[in-house]
Amino acid sequence: MRRHDYLDHDIETASPKQIRERQEAELARQLDYLFARSLFYQEKFRSAGLRRKDCCNLRDLARFPFTTKEELRASQASQPPLGRHIAADWHNVIRVHSSTGTTGQPSFVGVTRRDARAWTRLTARSFYTQGCRKTDVVAHAIGLTLFVAGLASKDAIESIGAVFVPLGTGASEKALSVIPWLGANAMHCTPSYASYFAKYAREAGVEPHTLGLKKLFCGAEPGAGIPSVRKKLEQDFGARATEGLGNADMAPIIFSECPEQAGMHHNGPDFVLAEVIDPESGESLPIETGVTGELVYTSLQRECVPLLRFRTRDRIEVLGTSCVCGRTGFRLRCIGRTDDMLMLLGVNVFPSAVREVVAAFSPSTTGEIQILLEQPGPRVEPPLKVVAESAVGSAAWGELKSQIERKLRDVLTIAASVELVPTGTLPRYEMKGQLVKHLYQNTAQVPAGRRRKVLV
Ligand SMILES: [Zn+2]
Repeated sequence: MRRHDYLDHDIETASPKQIRERQEAELARQLDYLFARSLFYQEKFRSAGLRRKDCCNLRDLARFPFTTKEELRASQASQPPLGRHIAADWHNVIRVHSSTGTTGQPSFVGVTRRDARAWTRLTARSFYTQGCRKTDVVAHAIGLTLFVAGLASKDAIESIGAVFVPLGTGASEKALSVIPWLGANAMHCTPSYASYFAKYAREAGVEPHTLGLKKLFCGAEPGAGIPSVRKKLEQDFGARATEGLGNADMAPIIFSECPEQAGMHHNGPDFVLAEVIDPESGESLPIETGVTGELVYTSLQRECVPLLRFRTRDRIEVLGTSCVCGRTGFRLRCIGRTDDMLMLLGVNVFPSAVREVVAAFSPSTTGEIQILLEQPGPRVEPPLKVVAESAVGSAAWGELKSQIERKLRDVLTIAASVELVPTGTLPRYEMKGQLVKHLYQNTAQVPAGRRRKVLV
C-alpha cells in the first residue's frame, strides 16, 4: 500500500485552518436546523437562555450545554419511537438501529437517506485508513442486525469496491471453510472474537495464519490497540491488526488507525466535531499530544437525530496531531470509560443492568451481586463472572443458576457464568454499591486533563 493514499484527500489532509472553516460553516447550518426542527434542543436552549446568535464560531460552542445518554433515553421514553430529539420527518427515516443500555432497554437511532450516505462515506474512509482496498475480500464477523456497525460496514466496504462477506457472529465453523474458499484476506471483527477464533481454529486443527487473513479490522470494543493484544493477534493470524472507534448515537466508525498503528485518526471532521473535555469539570481541553479526557461529539450534517456536545463517556488520550501517513486528523487511543460500562464482544453492559436481571428472581435472589473482573475493563472476555446471593437452599442452586444465565443471555445478549452464594455473603455498602470487584493489581488512573509527554 502506498503511504500517501486517501479516500478523500482534501478533507483527510486539510490544514487546521481549512478544517476550522469547514466545521464553522457546517456547524452554522446544523445549529439553524436544530433551532428550527428539534423540540428537544429548542427546549434545552430555551431553558439555558441561549439563542441562535449566541453561537457564531467554534469557540462559542463551549457556552452550549452537553447532551447526555440519559437525556436521550428520557426523550425517547417521552415520545416514541425515536424521541423528542428526532429532527426529521418520520417518513424520511429509512433505517433504525439500536444499542443496549443501562437497563437492557434498547435505545433507537434513526437515519435518513442523507444520514446513511454520510455514514457510508465516513465508515468507508475509516476502513480505507485501516488499509481496506478494492482488491480485498472482507469477512465480516460482526452481527448485521440492530448494531450500528453492521449494515453501515457493509455499505462502506462495498462502496470501496471490496467484496463483503456477511459471516455474522457465531459462525466460526463456517468461517474456517468460507475464508480460504473465497480467498478472504481481511476480517472485520471485535478483538475478542479474533482471539477466540484463533483458539477455535487451532482446536479444529487449523493454524490461524494458514487461513490467508492479512488484515484484521477490529472495533466495537477497545483491545486491538493494546500492544500485547495486538501482538498476539498479529502473530496468530500473520496479519496486520488495526482498530476503529465509533459511537452508536453519532456514527458507526469515526476514528481508525492507519498502517502506522500509532493511534486512531479522526477521519470525519466534516461530519463530526470532536471535543475533549475534563469529565469532572466539563472544561474543554486543547487537542494536543498527551491530553487525556472524555470525547464529546457534535454532529455537523445529521438530519434524523442531530446531537450537540454529546458526552460519549469514552476516556481517551490524544497521541498526536500529525502523522507520517499525511493525515491531519488527530490521533487518539481509548483508555477506558468515565462510567462503569463493560463490553463483551462489542455488547455494552452496565453492572446495574446485570443486577436488575438477577434481582428479578427475587425472592430466590437478594438482588446483591458482584461482577468479578480479572483484567481492567471495559473489555471483558466472556463469560462475565457474576456472583449472586441466593435466599433459597443450595439444593435449588443448579436450576436457579441456569435460569439466571439464560435470562442474562436473553435480556442483555451476553454470556455469563453465575456463582450463587448464601444471603449475607457479599459486602453491603452505605453509599453507592460496588458492583464490580477488581481481581487484578489496580494501577492509578491518569487524572483527566493531565498532560504528559508521549513519544510516538
Ligand atoms: Zn496516520
